[in-house]
Amino acid sequence: MSRFHPEGNKAAGVDAAAVDALAKQVKGLVLTPDDEQYDAERAGHQTTRRHRPDVIVSAAGPADVEAAVTFANGHGLPVAVQGTGHALSAVAAEGGVLINTSRMTDVRMNAEAGTVWVGAGVRWDQVIPEAVAAGLAPLSGSAPGVGVVSYTLGGGLGLLSRRYGYAADHVRSIDVVTADGRLRYVTEISDPDLFWALRGGRDNFGVVTGIEVDLMPITTIYGGGLFFDAGSAAEVLDTYARWTTTVPDEMTSSIALISFPEVPALPAPLRGRYVVHIRIAYAADTLGAGEGLVAPLRALNPFIDTVAEMPFTEGGSIHNDPPFPGAFESGTALLREFDSATVHALLEHVGHQAPVPHVVELRHLGGRLAHPSAVPNAVGHRDARYAINVVSRLERAEITDIRPAHERVFAEIAPWTTGGRALNFMNGENDAKDVASAYNPKDYQRLTELKAVYDPQNTFRLNHNIPPAVTG
Ligand SMILES: Cc1cc2nc3c(=O)[nH]c(=O)nc-3n(C[C@H](O)[C@H](O)[C@H](O)COP(=O)(O)OP(=O)(O)OC[C@H]3O[C@@H](n4cnc5c(N)ncnc54)[C@H](O)[C@@H]3O)c2cc1C
Repeated sequence: MSRFHPEGNKAAGVDAAAVDALAKQVKGLVLTPDDEQYDAERAGHQTTRRHRPDVIVSAAGPADVEAAVTFANGHGLPVAVQGTGHALSAVAAEGGVLINTSRMTDVRMNAEAGTVWVGAGVRWDQVIPEAVAAGLAPLSGSAPGVGVVSYTLGGGLGLLSRRYGYAADHVRSIDVVTADGRLRYVTEISDPDLFWALRGGRDNFGVVTGIEVDLMPITTIYGGGLFFDAGSAAEVLDTYARWTTTVPDEMTSSIALISFPEVPALPAPLRGRYVVHIRIAYAADTLGAGEGLVAPLRALNPFIDTVAEMPFTEGGSIHNDPPFPGAFESGTALLREFDSATVHALLEHVGHQAPVPHVVELRHLGGRLAHPSAVPNAVGHRDARYAINVVSRLERAEITDIRPAHERVFAEIAPWTTGGRALNFMNGENDAKDVASAYNPKDYQRLTELKAVYDPQNTFRLNHNIPPAVTG
């Protein structure tokens, strides 16, 4: 499948003969900026910023990833990775090697063991139907189109999280090509340090080619959405905040303030409207208690109510995240508390009158998320009670207006934040201090020390980077 130019592959700053040699070596595609397919291969769900590498290797399998990393090493180039392109990378590659994993889509279900092994290009929507058919559910998140590997290694906050914890807490093994170009099979036993660091450190320690994760004995949940008019935002948020302090661990939920655009693709009642959306995913062994648990929220008179028993395969309808690509800017924080005073502070800066259209999403943490992983990993901040994300689409506002507007929201709610962040919700430009804030300080120190062991040249730096510790 390798692609050649009759006149040789050209890449700025990279020897064309070396690119040709690489193209002969790999089974997948090797592309340079002159190639017609170059733009398609670097495109992803996020359209705000794209990698513009010297060379793209669209890997057909782990051997291609080994070849690409070895090639990058030989030329002193950094390596970026892209699966679905859902995350806005902290550093868009200008040069270097981009490894596109989207063709590595093998899935091996082991229903008896309750596990699944997936290749690096697999998205949750490929796993969910097969798992549910086998009587199981993965620890997937709000959007089924997100990639399994990156979601999981970034923590993985999903529909079943308060019952089972982070997806990163349920990883059995990881296949990874490290900076030395070597494919390693990493487990708790084979390499405990690297296994610890990958689960939370995500893309800082290598290119993951496959991952084996646990599945849970769930096929049906009591879930859906409750939509309220923005006029009752204060009351709904306040009630939700109190409600979250009472619910069992089997109840995972979030609430969002959403400014919907005026587009025909949306159902008429939501078009052009500012609404409050509560998302429910109740996953107990028997679902009978669900209705009673949701009753205090229903009492606030939602104008749309889709909460009912549903197969886990329909879980994507709970949040209804947009499945089409778009340009976003977002900010994130973890909160220690969310009460009437927080609601008041938040509503000062969001709503229909806010200077830029936005989605403000508050996810309820706690439950199993508050416990350490049975096999320790680098996912931190387990004492946080809520995660808050503020997202604005660039199609609807200027970046120069969005950034200050988001900053004002986070400044206003600062008294309730922990200072920490969830890596998976950190998009785009983040400085070293921001990246460090995704970890507990001791864990961050250990991550920098392990980075110095596994990636001393910081080959994997086109990411939310953990730099190698400087010793001596
Ligand atoms: C609409 C939407 C909904 C979301 N919902 C949730 C949610 O419910 N819970 C949650 O926890 N997160 C959620 N996220 C965040 C999401 O989990 C992260 O953005 C995740 O990194 C996306 O992974 P990806 O492979 O799909 O995207 P990509 O952009 O392809 O990858 C993201 C980053 O991961 C790294 N990476 C990708 N593949 C590999 C690999 N094989 N080896 C090493 N590093 C790799 C790359 O450095 C890349 O920059 C959501 C994001 C979006 C856009």
